[in-house]
Amino acid sequence: MKSRTKVVVIGGGIAGCSTLYHLTQEGWSDVILIERDELTSGTTWHSAAQVTNFGMNQTMVGLKTHSIQLYKKLRDDPEYPVGYHHGDGGIRLANTEAQMQGYRHFASMARGMGVEFEVIDADECARRHPLISTENLLGGLWDGEDGDIDPAQLCQALAFHARKAGAEVYRHTAVTGLTQHRDDTWTVETDKGRIDADIVVNACGYRVNEVAAMMGVHHPVASMEHQYFVTEDIPAIVEAGHRMPLLRCPISDYYSRQEKNGLLVGFYEQDCKTWGMDGISPSFANDLCPDDLDRVMDVLEGAFERMPALTEVGIKRVVNGPITYTIDGAPLVGPIPGMRNAFCIIGLRAGVGEGGGHGWLLAQQIVHGEACYDMWCIDPRRFAGHTNVELTSLKAIEDYQNEFRFHFPHEHRPAGRPAKTTPLTPILAAEGAEFTVVNGWERVDYIKPTPDFHPTLSFHFDDAFDVIAAEIKNVQNNAGLAEVNGFNRIEITGADRHSFLDRIFCGTVAKRDGRVGLGYMLNHHGMVKGEATVANLPASDRGPTRVWYGSAAASESHDMDWLKAHVQDGEDVQLKSLTNDQTILVLAGPKSRQVLQAVSRDDWSKEGFPWLSVRECYIGFSPATVMGVSFSGELAYEIHVPNASLYAAYLALREAGKAHDMTLFGARAVESMRMEKGFLHWKADLITEFDPFETALDRFVKIDKGEFVGKNALVRNQARGLRKKLVSLQIDASHAPAHPGASLMHKDRVVGTITSGDWGHRIGRNLAYAFVEPDFMDVGSAMGLDLCGDIVTAEVIAPSPYDPTHGKMRA
Ligand SMILES: Cc1cc2nc3c(=O)[nH]c(=O)nc-3n(C[C@H](O)[C@H](O)[C@H](O)COP(=O)(O)OP(=O)(O)OC[C@H]3O[C@@H](n4cnc5c(N)ncnc54)[C@H](O)[C@@H]3O)c2cc1C
Repeated sequence: MKSRTKVVVIGGGIAGCSTLYHLTQEGWSDVILIERDELTSGTTWHSAAQVTNFGMNQTMVGLKTHSIQLYKKLRDDPEYPVGYHHGDGGIRLANTEAQMQGYRHFASMARGMGVEFEVIDADECARRHPLISTENLLGGLWDGEDGDIDPAQLCQALAFHARKAGAEVYRHTAVTGLTQHRDDTWTVETDKGRIDADIVVNACGYRVNEVAAMMGVHHPVASMEHQYFVTEDIPAIVEAGHRMPLLRCPISDYYSRQEKNGLLVGFYEQDCKTWGMDGISPSFANDLCPDDLDRVMDVLEGAFERMPALTEVGIKRVVNGPITYTIDGAPLVGPIPGMRNAFCIIGLRAGVGEGGGHGWLLAQQIVHGEACYDMWCIDPRRFAGHTNVELTSLKAIEDYQNEFRFHFPHEHRPAGRPAKTTPLTPILAAEGAEFTVVNGWERVDYIKPTPDFHPTLSFHFDDAFDVIAAEIKNVQNNAGLAEVNGFNRIEITGADRHSFLDRIFCGTVAKRDGRVGLGYMLNHHGMVKGEATVANLPASDRGPTRVWYGSAAASESHDMDWLKAHVQDGEDVQLKSLTNDQTILVLAGPKSRQVLQAVSRDDWSKEGFPWLSVRECYIGFSPATVMGVSFSGELAYEIHVPNASLYAAYLALREAGKAHDMTLFGARAVESMRMEKGFLHWKADLITEFDPFETALDRFVKIDKGEFVGKNALVRNQARGLRKKLVSLQIDASHAPAHPGASLMHKDRVVGTITSGDWGHRIGRNLAYAFVEPDFMDVGSAMGLDLCGDIVTAEVIAPSPYDPTHGKMRA
């Protein structure tokens, strides 16, 4: 066994084997995989091993496409061929028009990744899958690339090629301890000896948290028991003369694929069961849980009705094994929050199909610092603070029960709620608030007109449209109050805080006490990494002179890790999170100044507190920090209040607001208003796939200000020219918003992709942002938007169609 290496990958299932293989493909050959038993002896060996191209967003589609291309290459490799039924085709069934709308959107989104799905009717489903009945069936989504692979051969082939490229694989070697040193390198203890490594990767499947504990962390991953059976030969399959397509059914929660001349049918029963909650026996390897078909009877009936031939054959084999789920259903692939030189590729619930792609993206991230796609949807840092084992298991159960029922826009499922609240949550609930969830926080979406108001889930504008319009109208004409909780807030102190920020932002950083600025951070490839407000607070009885760095709620772990990693030795910079201590009350609208003046004795006039100012003060008797910033485009104030006095500040503002017709508003109103103002959202419009010039952030870049992170790469990007440009669009449709990922077409060619879309209630127009090819970036350029299957005109407009000179927010 080697005693030193660059990377140790722990776990020899598909996750570990794919990571090892792709590390060698990215040029790192001094890498090792350590497996406690045989390769694939965790979940991978007994997987149903379906490989679909279907994904909920472009990153997922892109990584699955990579899997398929890789698996085809491995299948055709004469040296180490892998059994792969590629292209049997697969159908995701639907029995509601809303599901069909969703499938049409997913087809539009996948087209931008070069993947063609087809939305077909019930008869066409039956023509392609001769075993199914069309009873209670509207149609489905056809994925022509669907198939299944031999999972053990796949892993062996990946390990074989990795070894050929210089990697080493140590089987029957258990990792027993992990120690990180001051220089961020690791010592990996095993039952066969020690290995020193620069980087470690946790790819341990259902044992993920055993290895996480060795690092002193816990991952939001829980295991569920999951079953399938394999039937004896079905005569109709033999007679069909072609392989049966795969089926995935959100109506009755099962899947099926052909196995020899029978079917393999797997179930996502409602009466499901977590696994390993109280620990996992060390001897559980190459093992299964006891069969329990009684548990799946409800689902089985649905499968029998859809495929009556199933009732006429016997069951040859039952498989019941552990499968991992995360707190939001998507895997965790990337840097481990709060750690250095530590990555994970865990929580894979469709790991055989996706593993090729996940390992590919992770290896890119390890070797190059970033992958070709923005990985936020699978980034382990996307939640913070609430991801304990009890909550994770509740969400795992919910996700398992809804395996094939995709999330609709604005859908927030009930399990594990409320996780993070403020003292105002019950108060706002009593006011009729409908809540959305942001990084676990219950945030007001809108105020319901009646307690039993529940809009039907839809890809079209939903029943809340008029409710949101009314909230916005009042903000526009009078004043509105909204709670924004969970906002990421890092207090930065120390004499070097401004030179530090200068180095990590690509533009000018506000430095004067009492002033606020907006800045953008780039990664080392010159791409957009983050966005933050910087507020300079003068010394006071509340603290020394300091900066409050504020960014999106979801960025809590991401931004803290990024900032910490960039503090240099000897630099006088201290970082402290205030995220859980303070909450923002946003006061917006032309009468907001009067409301504020009524509760605070300071001078809030335009001259006394100009736009982009920050001041410590009292709201009534509650200490507060007020910033003159606006995401709505109206005159507005962000009032940051310690949670202990939040309710008191809220009461004072509500009381003062009565004289000015102030009402509550929520996140959906904010979303609409920011679209009218040309304001961008982190990880919707601001992603690591584009540089700030492509993202239309030119005014926030100061290329000649001296050194900053990403500068050299950005200069190279500039020489290369724009690949795409972010533009504002107006959509010629009033029935549905443009959903993220939807394709913009010119004739038959995809020329752009939507990042955000919503109705602009103040201007009465359907708005969107998109990255488009440079030929289509000029105002007036028209494209065809594939809006859930309808092609409608999308025209480029100037940004900020509402109050383009920003006069209202500076009033
Ligand atoms: C019944 C069933 C059907 C499924 N069907 C499909 C499907 O159709 N399509 C699909 O894509 N996915 C499917 N899945 C899911 C898929 O099989 C998993 O997502 C995938 O196999 C997970 O791979 P992994 O590498 O993350 O984990 P594992 O395969 O569990 O690998 C983890 C490895 O880490 C090793 N390890 C753990 N601790 C240590 C340690 N301390 N030291 C060294 N090594 C260690 C383990 O021994 C194990 O080999 C199915 C799962 C089940 C249960």
